Amino acid sequence: MDYLPVFQKIKDRLCLVVGGGSVGSRKAGVLLEAGARVRIVAPEIADDLKGADNAELITTRFEEKHLDGVALVIAATNDREVNKQVSTLAQARNLPVNVVDDPELCSFIMPAILDRSPLMVAFSSGGASPVLTRMMRGKMETVIPQNYSRLASFAERFRERVKKQVTSPAKRRIFWENVFDGVVAEKVLSGDEASAEAMLQTMLDDEDNIVRGEVYLVGAGPGDPDLLTFRALRLMQKADVVVYDNLVSKPIVDMTRRDAERIFVGKKRADHTLRQEEINELLVRLAKEGKRVLRLKGGDPFIFGRGGEEIETLAAEGIAFQVVPGITAASGVASYAGIPLTHRDHAQSCVFVTGHLKDGTMNLDWEQLARPKQTVVVYMGLHGLVTLCAKLIEQGMPDSTPIAIVQQGTTPNQRVITGTLATLPGIAEREQPQPPTLIIVGGVVTLRDKLAWFHP
Ligand code: SAH
Repeated sequence: MDYLPVFQKIKDRLCLVVGGGSVGSRKAGVLLEAGARVRIVAPEIADDLKGADNAELITTRFEEKHLDGVALVIAATNDREVNKQVSTLAQARNLPVNVVDDPELCSFIMPAILDRSPLMVAFSSGGASPVLTRMMRGKMETVIPQNYSRLASFAERFRERVKKQVTSPAKRRIFWENVFDGVVAEKVLSGDEASAEAMLQTMLDDEDNIVRGEVYLVGAGPGDPDLLTFRALRLMQKADVVVYDNLVSKPIVDMTRRDAERIFVGKKRADHTLRQEEINELLVRLAKEGKRVLRLKGGDPFIFGRGGEEIETLAAEGIAFQVVPGITAASGVASYAGIPLTHRDHAQSCVFVTGHLKDGTMNLDWEQLARPKQTVVVYMGLHGLVTLCAKLIEQGMPDSTPIAIVQQGTTPNQRVITGTLATLPGIAEREQPQPPTLIIVGGVVTLRDKLAWFHP
């Protein structure tokens, strides 16, 4: 972070703009909108500034005395020497100074703004790319409609009343989120503030009901944050506590609400930071404290994720929960590896199995897995790779059957190792793929030669 974003109060304070052309007058206009008094200094001053209230026009060249009594300075002349002089003199007086399009001479920069006053969004790329910054603002224009301005003003009017009645800051945040998420906001946005106010009052009177804990069991997909669902993202932004394990990639954990508490519950093979029962109990306890708990899991929570066990406990305790599906490893990883899981020439069915059973063995239905025209996807299978290949051959699968190991699929560390049932164990021994890895067995693996598209 190269710059600290702040919003400065300049109402009724004197600001200096040096330069009277179109850029200078635009800057002066913004300052006037923010309630400042503006002193404009330039030998010639554009017509549109003449006659503005709160504007003092000085039609001479810039001199140091023009800085007297000023709180903020903007230089917008087309003469770099003048701009530089303004910058130097202003900085000598510790005055914040901006020189248009010249970051080197600035002590602050002006962001692109999205004005939904009192709601204000500022964008900046720290001078790296004003075009990108403006494009970003354009996108946000559509996300934050004009009438949010009304919503913010409505909230402002009730802020003190709510603060007095709902004293706990955590509860108050939830209260406001319920307001903005629900019918009250809809009423305000549609212009019916009287009903909105009545509803808000009803909510305030029922204060004890504000906080009810809830658990969101959310699938985070296989690693690439772009593969999250909209709902996952929304709940990630809403949660008070995030409970995650090491299958959830760091960029995704970083997208959860900034001030949410984060609890890592581990789970690498054989190194369980918390036992499953302890995780179940933790979720119950947090929800009973009234928190909105995000239980974030890799892939899909209901596919080899023990998500079912976690919510069974919640259901038994009568705690509200919702489940958000995610892209499971088989689907995400196969796509990014260029291996279609079904294909009319190769496989009419696809089975998902786990290579890691509760008792540590790999006691699978080998006969079923060895069927022709079928793709087999093995989760947690790397440790059992040798057994897997041997058993499938023993059941009559040709030892030339293609098989792939995908390491950390969909991430920048994705690596795909291919071979046959006969050769892959040896290749894997040499290549040492890093977890998590997914194994895919079947004719579809050969399609990768043509379809591989993701080259991190
Ligand atoms: N619920 C998860 C699976 C959890 S089991 C899901 O639906 O994807 C953990 C196993 O998933 C790992 O051992 C590995 O086999 C597989 N896996 C998860 N993410 C992966 C990734 N990015 N690349 C390869 N395999 C992955």
